Amino acid sequence: MDDCDVLIVGGGPAGSTCAWKLHRAGFHVIVMDKAAFPRDKPCAGWITPQAVQALRLDLGEYTRGRTLQVITGFRVRVMGSPRSVEVKYDRPVSFGIRRCEFDHYLLQRSQATLRLGSPVETIRRDRGRWIVNEAIRASTLVGAGGHWCPVARMLNGARVRGPLVAAQEAEFPIESHRSATFTTEAGTPEFYFCRDFKGYGWCFRKQQYLNVGLGRIDRHGPSKAAAEFLSYLKADGRMPADTHCQWRGHAYLVEAPRTRRAVDEDVLLVGDAAGLADSRSGEGIRAGIESGLLAASMIAGRERLLDYETRLRQCGVIESSSGSTILPDQVSAKLGGLLLQLPWFVRHVVLDRWFLKKSVQARSC
Ligand SMILES: Cc1cc2nc3c(=O)[nH]c(=O)nc-3n(C[C@H](O)[C@H](O)[C@H](O)COP(=O)(O)OP(=O)(O)OC[C@H]3O[C@@H](n4cnc5c(N)ncnc54)[C@H](O)[C@@H]3O)c2cc1C
Repeated sequence: MDDCDVLIVGGGPAGSTCAWKLHRAGFHVIVMDKAAFPRDKPCAGWITPQAVQALRLDLGEYTRGRTLQVITGFRVRVMGSPRSVEVKYDRPVSFGIRRCEFDHYLLQRSQATLRLGSPVETIRRDRGRWIVNEAIRASTLVGAGGHWCPVARMLNGARVRGPLVAAQEAEFPIESHRSATFTTEAGTPEFYFCRDFKGYGWCFRKQQYLNVGLGRIDRHGPSKAAAEFLSYLKADGRMPADTHCQWRGHAYLVEAPRTRRAVDEDVLLVGDAAGLADSRSGEGIRAGIESGLLAASMIAGRERLLDYETRLRQCGVIESSSGSTILPDQVSAKLGGLLLQLPWFVRHVVLDRWFLKKSVQARSC
């Protein structure tokens, strides 16, 4: 039996960030993940400067041998609308990464002891400690296993309740001789809002890779919606007609309204396991990082862990806002379509406020 202070289930950004901070505080941390790393994860791979800052990521070092696309603008359009709005910024407002590289980098950087390639199957309590898979004993357990996290299931039951983003994504290299036939500009991701504002598609060029996807707060028919979106992009000339996408599906809960309990005695949930992704943009990496840091600082500071959810609220990782569409429910689809043609609204409300959260600097939890 291996003993440790903290066992973290899941080596994605939430788990690895928590492990990184705990290891630096002198704790013996084990990270278990069912996947062998590097592993990929369905994701657009868009991160905000606040996420970079919270991670204290050295971008110069990170770029060595890895893809890092600086983003200085966006194109926004309602699907089927004849015109898009382009917004440019005079400095980087986000970055594009590839999850197979990013997650591996963060996990290695954490310096935690790694147990990769085997899933967590059993969790039980014995004399005030956690026993996982009858192989690891830990004082504190952190559930960072994403949407299907076994620790989240233990705390909340198997039934998933609440608004769920169902998404499809594909990422593939653009062959250099066909580069000009993919017309999405690197550094200017494109967002295509669904006409009912229950989700949006994206087309995002990250150096020599293209990432395409669609996410909707709607459990029904994500594959059909993604296939229609791809046909739309081809008809619009964003990519050649013979482009083939190997779709990968995934789902996750958003932070409002809250449906998951994120804490109990000696156990916490971070990231998607706790259902913390932003309700409007679907951004979940930042909340994963911030909740991982908060969990680590509460464990390291021997604080009362039962206050964790209150602290997530106090530092803004859980917001009071709610809603199950991109636009507030009281805004009709027709009005939404008009608003998204206004450059002022797109820049200041959709991008700066909802997607980039410019007024919310790195949250120190
Ligand atoms: C299509 C799509 C696009 C997205 N695009 C973006 C984006 O551009 N920007 C953004 O910020 N967010 C995006 N998100 C959300 C983002 O991907 C998640 O919020 C983020 O990955 C959460 O990180 P995490 O560490 O909590 O979980 P994950 O990254 O899901 O990591 C969980 C880990 O737990 C492991 N695990 C699961 N079960 C077990 C088990 N039983 N035993 C052991 N290990 C286990 C998994 O193998 C995995 O490595 C997107 C999501 C989707 C689906």
